[in-house]
Amino acid sequence: MKKVLHIGIDDTDSLKGSCTTHLATVIINEIANQVDFLDFPNLIRLNPNIPYKTRGNGAVAIRVDGEEKDLENARELVIRKVKEMAKLDDENTNPGIAFLSDEITSAVKEFSKRALWDIISIPEAEKFNSFANIDLVKFGNGRGIIGALGSIGNPLNDDFTYEHLTYRSPEKYGTKRLIDRDSIIAADKATPLTFSNVDYDYNSIMITPRGADPVFTGIRGETAEEVMKAWCIIKPLEEITMRMIFRTNQHTNQHFVKEFKINELKPHLSIITQGKVSKNPYYIEGSHLIFPIKDNTGEIDCAAYEPTKKFRGELNNLIIGDEVTVFGGVRPPAEKHPLTINIERLRVDILEKTFSYENPFCDECSARLKSAGKNKGYKCHKCSAVYRNKKPIEKLVPRKLALQEYLPPIIAHRHLTRPRSREKRDNSNKQKSKEDVNKILNLLFSSSK
Ligand code: ATP
Repeated sequence: MKKVLHIGIDDTDSLKGSCTTHLATVIINEIANQVDFLDFPNLIRLNPNIPYKTRGNGAVAIRVDGEEKDLENARELVIRKVKEMAKLDDENTNPGIAFLSDEITSAVKEFSKRALWDIISIPEAEKFNSFANIDLVKFGNGRGIIGALGSIGNPLNDDFTYEHLTYRSPEKYGTKRLIDRDSIIAADKATPLTFSNVDYDYNSIMITPRGADPVFTGIRGETAEEVMKAWCIIKPLEEITMRMIFRTNQHTNQHFVKEFKINELKPHLSIITQGKVSKNPYYIEGSHLIFPIKDNTGEIDCAAYEPTKKFRGELNNLIIGDEVTVFGGVRPPAEKHPLTINIERLRVDILEKTFSYENPFCDECSARLKSAGKNKGYKCHKCSAVYRNKKPIEKLVPRKLALQEYLPPIIAHRHLTRPRSREKRDNSNKQKSKEDVNKILNLLFSSSK
């Protein structure tokens, strides 16, 4: 009888190379003739503000079914490949594998939800080893079991996206990615259901990463078909060794789960918090924008950093008294700054009214009056009429901000940031049947184009 196995993998990479999605793709290729895939591999981004991450705090879950013997072989292969390919010589690489048979229990789902915004300790994850259907495998200090379990417990039942990843030949790692730029623009224009391929405002291609990792391109979109179509249009100018489609929580804002009062904010949490601007925004060295917000429990600085570009200029229009909801990560205090919220997006809830004041007009000749001196009223420079009791004309000054959400440009988006283009998506009906998933995966194994 066939059985279900969920395989979670994390923390296999270092800044010197490798990437957990790459390792997962190698594993998927190798186990494909023994098992069936229940879904595309899931690339789950967890709390982006934790200090241990290499880049985007991503973990991968592979969900399969098969005969017991084949699942046992798959388990062995996963452990062997992690040992072989993970950067175990780097002290910051602490791989973890989680195997979970059958149903994903609610305790694992809850754990995953917390891993999106909170800091979880290794012993907290280790407790799951006592569950009969869970097996955790650790390397180094084993921190990777947190992400491994966190990815398994997130079945992406709500909003999700796809990413089509391609990988380069090892001798190219660390070199500039060679790709026909015009073909990326053409692919972007031809596939409306892909997003964030190019930031046209900053003339920046967004599908090629910059690091020494094996990823050549990542194309993000709403459907598996659309990301494949985009890749077909793109012309790589170097060899592609493998490709894979991941179903993912990227670009869904899934990490903004919990609202906090200001005095509850702790370093490294991903948070939502409401407050009133308590000092007008100001720039500090490095061109970062800072302003504090206040609620009935305390006050905290909020920061929009230089890389967020025009986002800073927009937020610079906030004034004391404006009420905002801030979505971001909490940065620990340091010598040069207090505990600070790194703003990822911001909603303006209430705008303070601002007024300008103008001199009134003369009742006799309609000319604009002039001040007659401090507390002496107004006088008319044309007909010399004097007015002791006239008041200045109060005018409402239009604010440059609206009651809406503001977010940085695409070039400054993080993996989980939901771009503007996705705000009004209908997410029903995108999940594929097991048959379709296996058909598409077979296609990916057989060709890099
Ligand atoms: P890449 O994006 O290149 O795959 P990464 O940014 O995912 O790299 P990892 O090397 O996987 O970084 O390191 C992240 C580590 O943090 C892992 O060990 C993971 O288990 C752990 N982790 C993930 N989420 C949490 C959390 N909420 N609390 C504590 N630890 C976490």
